[in-house]
Amino acid sequence: MTSHPSSCTESYDQRFEELVLFNAELECLASGFRWLEGPVWFGDHNCLLFNDIPNNSTLRWSAQHGVSTFISPSNYANGQTRDRQGRLIQCHHSSRCLTRRELDGSVTVLASRARGHRLNSPNDVIVKQDGSIWFSDPLYGLLGDYEGGRQESEQGPALYRIDPLDGSIEPMATDFDGPNGLAFSPDESLLYVAESGAPGSSKPHQYIRVFKVSEDGKKLSGGEFFQKITSGWADGFRVDEHGNIWCGAADGVHCLAPDGSLLGKVLVPKQVSNLCFGDRHNCRLFMCASNAVYSLFTNTRGLPTTDI
Ligand code: MG
Repeated sequence: MTSHPSSCTESYDQRFEELVLFNAELECLASGFRWLEGPVWFGDHNCLLFNDIPNNSTLRWSAQHGVSTFISPSNYANGQTRDRQGRLIQCHHSSRCLTRRELDGSVTVLASRARGHRLNSPNDVIVKQDGSIWFSDPLYGLLGDYEGGRQESEQGPALYRIDPLDGSIEPMATDFDGPNGLAFSPDESLLYVAESGAPGSSKPHQYIRVFKVSEDGKKLSGGEFFQKITSGWADGFRVDEHGNIWCGAADGVHCLAPDGSLLGKVLVPKQVSNLCFGDRHNCRLFMCASNAVYSLFTNTRGLPTTDI
């Protein structure tokens, strides 16, 4: 292990040195929240949206104006992203659904039931280039009052796909201890999904799995072990232009190569739940870490998430 000249990174592989900048430092953009999740960059508004789950609100940060409340109550929104048209897609714990915020501000419920039952607590979401929406539905948000309120589960955890043409919701994989963050490889032939483990299990599955995406983009196969994240466990992550996976962990953000090897870490003083790339060139990491938001400029770009 070598320390990178930048004091906030640790390098285990020469490839990592090309992804980070020697003269970029970790910045704490805002703090004083409770438990943050779901960072998503809106370049057209030059701002970051993120969720404070226990405070039941979606917040907005910009360099010019600092932090303001964007949506409250947010129905305990967790993971979020933009669709190909740039609209905000949110996962909600307490209302157990997935919503889309239209350009006029109205809200459309995209999914609240599947397989004949109510969803559990949608956790994280991404949108494929074909417009299909993929989201994880573990039980975490139903288990306590802090992140949404105790409710009964009606079905097991699963990973779902919403069809872009007819809006139908189909399970893509159901053999999960707790599906969580997810991201496609740059060519979308692979889907990485974090499995964060069943609460209370003595030997929870806590690792990232990798699935093959079928040619038509409507089915998954495989689902093998990809990599374990320690310390902590895998929650949210994003993929950069080279296919590297940047994953939140207890000690910061771990950068994994497409072959699974740990290239290096961004050291963050608090547990990172989720992250995104953003800013003008999509080369700035925004990290939700416990009760604070951090950022770090990198020498790699995140994959674009919209067509606008
Ligand atoms: Mg999550």
